[in-house]
Amino acid sequence: MNPARRLLLANKSWAQERRAIDPEFFQRLAAGQQPEFLWISCSDSRVPETQLTVTDAGELFVHRNVANLVRADDANVLCVLQYAIEALKVHHVIVCGHYGCGGVKAAMNGAPPGRLSQWLAPVADIYQRHRQQLDLLSEDERWAKLVELNTVDQVHRLAETDVIRNAWAKDVYPYLHAWVYSLPEGLIQPLLTLSPKGPQKLL
Ligand SMILES: [Zn+2]
Repeated sequence: MNPARRLLLANKSWAQERRAIDPEFFQRLAAGQQPEFLWISCSDSRVPETQLTVTDAGELFVHRNVANLVRADDANVLCVLQYAIEALKVHHVIVCGHYGCGGVKAAMNGAPPGRLSQWLAPVADIYQRHRQQLDLLSEDERWAKLVELNTVDQVHRLAETDVIRNAWAKDVYPYLHAWVYSLPEGLIQPLLTLSPKGPQKLL
């Protein structure tokens, strides 16, 4: 079977099953969304946000890109952020990096010049900033540490956006979370939570 056809058939049976369990399910979703979370993660196919957080349709507003970056020159992520905070009023923004991230590795090893290396330049900058400390580690440890540093850095970048500054001038929300997902374990580890009052211990 054509692989794309497999997805369409799977969708049909999923819709039938959901309707059988909960006849109002799709009508409720069609009426509007009130997600509590904005989820920002890598495009990697092994980080399926709703599966690994056991959330349903309507619970996560999602933005994904290579290496889960929040770039001040990326209109896409900034529009997603603005809509999530100002219109949907999400209370939690989660940046979830993942160990084994190919984007982070490419930045660490020097991606070939081109669009991808330009995109990954902020990760390469983080590597350079922490190079003395990182180069003492084995390659795998260095890779994992850079994944963590990159994820935390994106949360600080979020905190510097006008959208978050404006929100924090009026409210204690949103909380900004840096999490990292382990592919071999299937587990998320929280690294940092920021609020207008500074770092928080929520977990
Ligand atoms: Zn990745």
